[in-house]
Amino acid sequence: MNTRVVKIDPQNIDHEVLREAGALIRNGGLVAFPTETVYGLGANGLDPGAVKRIFQAKGRPSDNPLILHISRAEELDKLVEGISPTAERLIEEFWPGPLTLIFKKSSLVPEVVTAGLDTVAVRMPSHPVAMGMIRYAGVPVAAPSANLSGKPSPTRAEHVIKDLLGKVDMIIDSGSVMVGLESTVADITGGGVVVLRPGGITPEQLREVTGDVTVDPGLIPDGDTTIPKAPGMKYAHYSPDAQVIIIDGDMYKAADKIQRMAKDLESQGKRVGIMATEQTKALYKDAPVVSVGDRKRPYTIAANLFAVLREFDALGVDVILAEGVERQGVGLAVMNRLMKAASHNVVRV
Ligand code: AMP
Ligand code: MG
Repeated sequence: MNTRVVKIDPQNIDHEVLREAGALIRNGGLVAFPTETVYGLGANGLDPGAVKRIFQAKGRPSDNPLILHISRAEELDKLVEGISPTAERLIEEFWPGPLTLIFKKSSLVPEVVTAGLDTVAVRMPSHPVAMGMIRYAGVPVAAPSANLSGKPSPTRAEHVIKDLLGKVDMIIDSGSVMVGLESTVADITGGGVVVLRPGGITPEQLREVTGDVTVDPGLIPDGDTTIPKAPGMKYAHYSPDAQVIIIDGDMYKAADKIQRMAKDLESQGKRVGIMATEQTKALYKDAPVVSVGDRKRPYTIAANLFAVLREFDALGVDVILAEGVERQGVGLAVMNRLMKAASHNVVRV
C-alpha cells in the first residue's frame, strides 16, 4: 500500500489536508495522527471492516479493545448507556485531555472495537490536529497507539514511519507529542473510579475530583502474579529490540550497581546502553549514556521515555541498564511502562 506522509503544523493548521484525513477515515481508511499522549492509528469507529484493518496493520491481538476518540462531549451520548454524576465531573475537569473513561456500551458500538466486552473506552484528545481530524471525520475515531504491537509507542512521526509505512493510508507528521505516555484509563462502571492504566492524569489528580479512587493492584506487580484488569495490560509491551534491566532504589546506589553491571556485561562481549537521568548522567563513564529527563520534573521523563528506548535500538546496544524512578505522580505511569519494557526484570539496590 502507498502511504501518504503529510506535515501539519499544529500552530498553523492546513485545514485542506486535515479535511482529507477526516474524509479518509470516514470512508474506511487508516490514518496515523498526533494526539497529546502518543501518535494514534485511527479508523472509523462505527465501521467494523475499517477497525479490523487497525488490528491487522499493528499485529494487535483481537482481544485487546480500542479507545473511541471524540471531539465533542455530546458525541458520548449515543456511544454509552448512561453518564453518571462522577463521569460528568471527570469529563468537566479533564476533557479534552489524557483521560480515557470506561462506560457501558450502547448497541451502536461494534463488537470488534470492544473485543466483545459490554463496556467501551472513550476519550476526547486535546491535540488540535487530533480534534480537527475527528471533527472532519464526523464519526468517533477508534485509535490505539500507531506502533507495531509490542514496540514502544510512537512519540514522533519518524517512529510511526518506521513501524507502519506501507501499512496505512496516511501518516500526519506534527512533530513531537506533549505527554509522551498513553492516556490514563479509568473504569467508572462500578460507582467509584478504578485506574486500570496509569498515564498523564495521575491518581492524585483524580482524587481531587472524587474521593473514591483506587489503582488496579495488577499494574505494578512486585514479583507476584496479579493479572491486570484492562485486557491490554497483560501483554508484553513497549519492548525495544535490546533487553531492558531496571536498577531500582537509591539513585547513587543504582548508579554504582549499573557501573559494575555494565563492566560485567561488556566483558561478556555485550554492548550496553545506560538510561540515566539529569541528576546521575555525569556519574557514568564508558558505555553510551542517555539522560531520559529530570527526576525533579517527572513529566520530562514521561515525554522522553519511548523515544530514548528507540534511540538505544538505533545505537545497536544489546542491553539497556535503566535507572528506576519514584512512583509518584506521573512516575507511576513511567514505571508501569518501563517494567513492561523490561518484562519485569528488576534489580533492587
Ligand atoms: P491502546 O489503544 O493501545 O492505548 O490501549 C488501550 C487500553 O485501554 C488497553 O490497555 C485496553 O485494554 C484498555 N481498554 C480499552 N477498552 C477497554 C474496556 N472496555 N475495558 C477495559 N479496558 C479497556
Ligand atoms: Mg498501544
